[in-house]
Amino acid sequence: MANRLVSPIVWQRATVIETVRETPQARSLMLALPHWQRHRAGQHVEVRLTVEDGYQAQRSYSIASPPEAPYLMLTVERIAEGEVSPYLVDVVQEGDQLEVRGPIGGYFTWQASQSGPLLLVAGGSGIVPLMAMARHHALAGSTTPAHLLYSARQVDNIIYHAELEQLATEDQAFAVFYTLTRGAPPGWAGFQRRIDLDMLEDVGWPPAQHPLIYICGPTPLVEAVATMALHLGHAQGRIKTERFGPTGGS
Ligand SMILES: Cc1cc2nc3c(=O)[nH]c(=O)nc-3n(C[C@H](O)[C@H](O)[C@H](O)COP(=O)(O)OP(=O)(O)OC[C@H]3O[C@@H](n4cnc5c(N)ncnc54)[C@H](O)[C@@H]3O)c2cc1C
Repeated sequence: MANRLVSPIVWQRATVIETVRETPQARSLMLALPHWQRHRAGQHVEVRLTVEDGYQAQRSYSIASPPEAPYLMLTVERIAEGEVSPYLVDVVQEGDQLEVRGPIGGYFTWQASQSGPLLLVAGGSGIVPLMAMARHHALAGSTTPAHLLYSARQVDNIIYHAELEQLATEDQAFAVFYTLTRGAPPGWAGFQRRIDLDMLEDVGWPPAQHPLIYICGPTPLVEAVATMALHLGHAQGRIKTERFGPTGGS
C-alpha cells in the first residue's frame, strides 16, 4: 500500500524520478518512495550510499518539497573533495535508486498554524529547508508575514532564484531579500556584504512582535546570525538553527 505508515528509521529504496540543475554547483533530485508519511517543512532525511565492496556513506539532506507535494525533493550542493555530494550532484541519473530514511527532526520545523511573523535566514544551501517553509507558506495560504534573507556568494549561486521571485510576487505575505558576498552584477538592487546587525534589523521584525527566526547554512554563518539576533533582543526560544557543515563561510 503506497501510503502505509513506515517508521522514519527504516531504510527505503527511493527512485530518482527527475533531476533539475539549480546552479552550477547544485542539483535537485525528485524522489519517489514506496512509503512516505507527510513531513513537516524543515525536516530532513538521511541518504545512504553503498559501494560494491560494501563500504557505506551516510549524509543528511533537508527536504526542499513542502508537505503538500506528492514526491520528495532534495537539493544538494557540491562540496569540493566531498565524498557524497559530488555523486548526488553530478552522477546520479533518473531511474537510479538511493537508500533514504526519514522524515527526521522535530525542532527545526514550521507549520502554517504557528503564530508570529517569520524571519528565515539562509546561507548557501541552507536555503533548502527554508524553501520547504516558503512553499508551505504559499500553498497553505498563510497570511503570517514572512521575510527571507538569503546570503549567497554570487548571483549564479542563488538556488531557486526564479521560483523565489515568483513566490514573492504571488504570495502577498512573503518577501525575499538577497545579499551577495563575492561581487554583484551591474544594477544589482540587493545587499552586497555579509549579513550584519543593520541588515538583520532592516529585513527582520522588532523583538516586540515576537518573530520566529529560522537560521540555516554553514556553521559560521548560523552562529554569527544567531548571536546578532540575540543582540537585537530576540528571545532565545524564538530562534531556531540548523548547521549544515563545519566550514564554508558564504
Ligand atoms: C540536518 C542537515 C541537513 C543538511 N541538508 C543539506 C541540504 O539540503 N543540501 C546540502 O547540499 N547539504 C546539506 N547538508 C550537508 C550534507 O549532510 C553534507 O555534509 C554535505 O553534502 C557534504 O557531504 P560530502 O560527503 O560531499 O562531504 P564530506 O566528504 O563529508 O566532507 C568533505 C569536506 O567538506 C567539509 N564539509 C562537509 N560538509 C560541509 C558543508 N555542508 N559545508 C561546507 N563544508 C563541508 C568537511 O569538513 C570536509 O573537509 C545537511 C547537513 C545536515 C546536518
